[in-house]
Amino acid sequence: MSPDVQIIGAGIAGLACARALASAGHEVVVRERGAAIGGRLATRELDGRPVDLGASYLTCRDEAFRTLVDDWVRRGLAHPWTSSFAVHNRLGLSRSEDGPMRYGAGRGLAALVEDLATGIPVRLGDPVTDVGPGPVVDGVEVDAVVLAMPDPEAHQLLDPACEAERAAVSSAWSPVIAVAAAWSRRRWDVEGVFVHDDPVLDWIADDGRRRADSAPVLVAHSTTGYASEHLDEVDKNPEEVVHQVVDAVRAILDVDEPPRWTYAQAWPYAKPLAPRASPFFLGDGGIAICGDAWGSPRVENAWLSGHKLGTELARRLA
Ligand SMILES: Cc1cc2nc3c(=O)[nH]c(=O)nc-3n(C[C@H](O)[C@H](O)[C@H](O)COP(=O)(O)OP(=O)(O)OC[C@H]3O[C@@H](n4cnc5c(N)ncnc54)[C@H](O)[C@@H]3O)c2cc1C
Repeated sequence: MSPDVQIIGAGIAGLACARALASAGHEVVVRERGAAIGGRLATRELDGRPVDLGASYLTCRDEAFRTLVDDWVRRGLAHPWTSSFAVHNRLGLSRSEDGPMRYGAGRGLAALVEDLATGIPVRLGDPVTDVGPGPVVDGVEVDAVVLAMPDPEAHQLLDPACEAERAAVSSAWSPVIAVAAAWSRRRWDVEGVFVHDDPVLDWIADDGRRRADSAPVLVAHSTTGYASEHLDEVDKNPEEVVHQVVDAVRAILDVDEPPRWTYAQAWPYAKPLAPRASPFFLGDGGIAICGDAWGSPRVENAWLSGHKLGTELARRLA
C-alpha cells in the first residue's frame, strides 16, 4: 500500500509538513532527489569541518518557530550567533546598527532539518519526475502529494493538465553563487558583511564564528546579476568565478594573502523574485505546494509554510 501522502523535497518546508502530518497520524514518505537532507540549508564537509553554503543563519519572529528554535538551542543543535553585522558601501566598511538575533548551528544548518526528519521516512536519491491529476506521482495513485521546492522545479514536475497548480508556481527565481574560502588565520574582525554597491558581492559570512569553532573560513554570496552571468561556469570552469569572488572579498576585508583553499556552489533558484502573501497552495485535487515562496523567502517562513500546510492537509484528510 502506498503512503497517504508523498512529500517531494527534503528541505525544511517538506520536513515541517511531514512532521505536522505524521503527528496527526498520517502515513507520509518524503522523497528527495539529492543525497542529503536539508535543501538550501546546505552544509558540506570541507577540509574536515562543516561549512554552510546555502542559508547563512536563521531568524525567528513567529512564536511557533521560536519554540522549535529554543528547543534546538536547549539541545545544543543551534545557538544565538549575532545581532550585528558590518556594512560595506562606497565609503568603506562600517559597523551596522543592531538587527534581530541570527542563529547558527555548530554542525551546520542542515543538521536542524535532519533533526526534523527524526522518525520520518525519507528516501534519498529518489527524484520524482511526474505529478499528475488524481493525484498520481510517477504513475502511483496517492491520497495527496506535496511539492516542497522552488517554483521552477515544481513547475517542471507538474503535468500540463494541472493548470491551477502550474499557474501557482509560474514565477521567476534569482540565482546566487556561494564561494567558501579558508585562510591560515583570521585576518578580519567581522561576523558578516552586507555588501552594497558591489557588482560581484552581496554578502560575506564568517563561517568560523557562526559555527563557534573560530576556523578562519568565510563564505561569500554573489549578487544576482553576477550569478546570472556566471552560473554555468561554476560546474565547468569555477577558477575564474572563484578568483573574482575572492578578489572582491579580499578588497573589502583588506586581506593581503590568497586563501588556502576555495569551493564554489551554484544556486540556480536561490530566492523567489515575487514571494506571495498566502502561506501555501492547496487546491481540491490533492496536490499541495509549500516552501519559501509562500511568505518572505527565509528559513522561518519555509518552515511555517510547510507546518501550516501539513496542519491543514491533516485536517482535510481526516
Ligand atoms: C545562497 C542562499 C542564502 C540564503 N540565506 C538565507 C539566510 O541567511 N537566512 C534565511 O532565513 N534564509 C536564507 N536563504 C533562504 C533559505 O535557504 C530558504 O528559504 C529555505 O531553505 C527554503 O527551504 P524549502 O524547504 O522551501 O526549499 P529547499 O531547501 O530548496 O528544498 C527543496 C528540496 O526539494 C528537492 N527537490 C527538488 N526537486 C525534486 C524532485 N523532482 N524530486 C525530489 N526532490 C526534489 C531539492 O533537492 C531540495 O532538497 C538563503 C538561500 C540561499 C540559496
